[in-house]
Amino acid sequence: MNQLSNESHEATGRRGECVVMKFGGTSVEDAAAIRRVSQLVKRRLRHRPVVVVSALAKVTDQLLSAARASSEGGPQSARETVERLRQRHQTVARELVEEQQFHCLWAELEPAFQMLDDLAGETAATGALLPEVQDRFLGVGEFLSSKILHAALLHAGFDVAWIDSKECIVTDAAHTRATPLWEDTRTRSRAVLLPVLQSGQLPVLGGFVGATREGIPTTLGRGGSDCSAAMIGVGLEASRIEIWTDVDGVMTTDPNLCPDARRITTLSFNEAAELARFGAQVLHPATIAPAMRRNIPVWVLNSRNPESGGTEIVAHASEIGRVKAITAKREVAVLDLEPAPSMASDLPRQVFEVFARHRHSVELLSASHHGFSLVMSAATDLPAIAQELRGLANVRWENHKALVCLVGEKIGRRPEIASQVLHVISDMDVRLICQGASERTISFLVEEARAEEAVRRLHELLFSTPAHVAEGLARVMYQPGGTC
Ligand code: ADP
Ligand code: ASP
Ligand code: MG
Repeated sequence: MNQLSNESHEATGRRGECVVMKFGGTSVEDAAAIRRVSQLVKRRLRHRPVVVVSALAKVTDQLLSAARASSEGGPQSARETVERLRQRHQTVARELVEEQQFHCLWAELEPAFQMLDDLAGETAATGALLPEVQDRFLGVGEFLSSKILHAALLHAGFDVAWIDSKECIVTDAAHTRATPLWEDTRTRSRAVLLPVLQSGQLPVLGGFVGATREGIPTTLGRGGSDCSAAMIGVGLEASRIEIWTDVDGVMTTDPNLCPDARRITTLSFNEAAELARFGAQVLHPATIAPAMRRNIPVWVLNSRNPESGGTEIVAHASEIGRVKAITAKREVAVLDLEPAPSMASDLPRQVFEVFARHRHSVELLSASHHGFSLVMSAATDLPAIAQELRGLANVRWENHKALVCLVGEKIGRRPEIASQVLHVISDMDVRLICQGASERTISFLVEEARAEEAVRRLHELLFSTPAHVAEGLARVMYQPGGTC
């Protein structure tokens, strides 16, 4: 189906003000990719696009390693990285616009590189990378890409306005992983963007970046441009939010793990939110909740293959009771807590307080009469969390685990699925199987080193095995009970 020309998709029956188009790093990796973006925007013009863009591919990684290097080993290697980034952006910009426009553009971009040099110097002098400094460092990537895209669209003849995302996305002060403040962001984005749209201009802004109410720059956590797009889309009551990336849509699993992963045509908001939460990188975990709140469809589309059809994410699930996708979240740890008898009843509350103090979330919790097992991402503060928990219970923790998760509306009501799954990975050290806590997920822990293999085997079972064979297998294998 030609998704771009399909009017029933375009309008989705809503009276939206605009369409938000978010382009990820690979969609703007070089001049050719940026020209493709320009074509895609052109095809949406009468739906009033608002364009949100990530940094050029890999730039955020490079900025982060430069920032870290300057705190650890002085500013020199950081400055070399900054120089390489300057040259790359210069090459891309030169290819996109003519000489005179290039000079104007470069006059705007050059101070950003100067700022990076200064920040590298400051960080080296302090000997530590402060979170607020990291945010200023990393935010430069989206400043550069949005300015270059703005220039390219101008050059292509669009009436385009560059918007500072710090004016639109208002966040708390949790530097490096800030949360947008819903009401402030809505008010500011409407105040800033609606007049631009009403004047017939096309707004372009960087994703990932926001600012506190006091105007101090923040970032939304890695991959956060999806979340920027969702916040803007909801603030403006967009008819749809489009996440343009480098794959044909949300796939049955990460295509990097399983080359035979298939595109999923439709997902419910809840299914997509679980996929993102359990590690499907294609969507930032905070993307779906705002869209769901206002029932705005989210589309995941391929900027290199726009005709592929993409994935539509909407309120209602189709094909209830079927596994839609498999994810694996790596670098997780499991903590087993065995409370002293006197503490047992109050333990959950106290445990959650410890996690809240560390601003860390629990991925999964399983309870038994011995105590609790918790799954959390293996962050640097894991030893500190474990230490605090030791005041409450006997604590054991293990690292290097991966959380594998199957997602599909109401699969938790089909115990034969868990049975089939456990059968194909019966030679692996599987633990903490969780089925039914959410009706749409079945998850379990495996050794991190075997996560890819587990995903491949499950993908083969669930997406390549003919249904009658899989069901026959389930009948033989199914034995009720044994899940949390
Ligand atoms: P962008 O730079 O466009 O934001 P990301 O790298 O953040 O792109 O997300 C796209 C990548 O997500 C894909 O290249 C793919 O490797 C990975 N991915 C992981 N799980 C899935 C999945 N279930 N479906 C599609 N892509 C996935
Ligand atoms: N550029 C940022 C990152 O790489 C944000 C994003 O791409 O969504 O994390
Ligand atoms: Mg992304």
